[in-house]
Amino acid sequence: MSSVEPGRDPGGVTGLGVARSLLAEAGSVVVLTGAGISTDSGIPDFRGPNGVWTKNPEAEKVATLASYLADTDLRRRAWRSRLNSPAWAARPNAAHIALAALAASGKLHTLVTQNIDGLHQAAGTDPSLIVEIHGTMHQVMCMTCDHRSPMEATLDRVRAGEEDPPCHRCGGILKSATISFGQDLVAGDLRRATRAASECDLLLAIGSSLAVFPAASLVPIAHHHGAAIVIVNAEETEFDPMAHAVVRVPIGEAIPAMMS
Ligand code: NAD
Repeated sequence: MSSVEPGRDPGGVTGLGVARSLLAEAGSVVVLTGAGISTDSGIPDFRGPNGVWTKNPEAEKVATLASYLADTDLRRRAWRSRLNSPAWAARPNAAHIALAALAASGKLHTLVTQNIDGLHQAAGTDPSLIVEIHGTMHQVMCMTCDHRSPMEATLDRVRAGEEDPPCHRCGGILKSATISFGQDLVAGDLRRATRAASECDLLLAIGSSLAVFPAASLVPIAHHHGAAIVIVNAEETEFDPMAHAVVRVPIGEAIPAMMS
């Protein structure tokens, strides 16, 4: 634990300096990442100023399980937009790469990501250290029989003319293997993330509005167990007053600078 008092360091370059010291002191770090770490890779976030939902509130429906299951037209639109997702061409940026270096240093307890884009693995972070708490867009799942298969094969079916391809095994509705609103998280993933938050001595939350629960609750859980909290995000979050350092420097600069 650090001697820095929560709430004393409201951001900017000072926040970065404190965050760097906390990281240097820490022996066991849990990182929680959100969509903001991947905007420099060309994938828009949801709630930032250029976010998908900020620009088009209708898009939220696609991410809501009940709407997706009930509405064939919405599923057809969802498959078409999956074909054109910027995430397929995205490459890890400096922040993903700096976190892979943190993992290689042995300090990373667990990297819990709300992201579904696979960029932490692409950057070289050991997959066994990663919990994809909201699933992955690189697989599809059947909502009836739970069978999982690679996304790319299903996208080939969409390209070949199937507008809403059904499960090959049971005819059920297919969806990307991501956690939609109204869908339960995978219990084992949530248990693992919660345990990690309660065991670390520093929790570093990067690029998340910390508005999606239960993922965001990892911050108060870590705080409750005595960990230092660092939040790196362009906008305010509900948990800023709990943090020992709040860093407003853009993530692509802040994370490599914190590791140096
Ligand atoms: P969010 O969209 O709610 O918040 C992202 C935050 O990051 C915003 O506050 C924004 O201001 C900040 N931000 C964006 N770029 C930044 C930068 N370069 N530097 C500093 N701050 C920056 O994202 P969330 O909290 O992760 O919640 C959205 C949900 O949507 C998550 O569950 C996630 O699964 C999903 N999602 C994932 C992806 C992805 O996989 N890349 C993309 C969009 C949404």
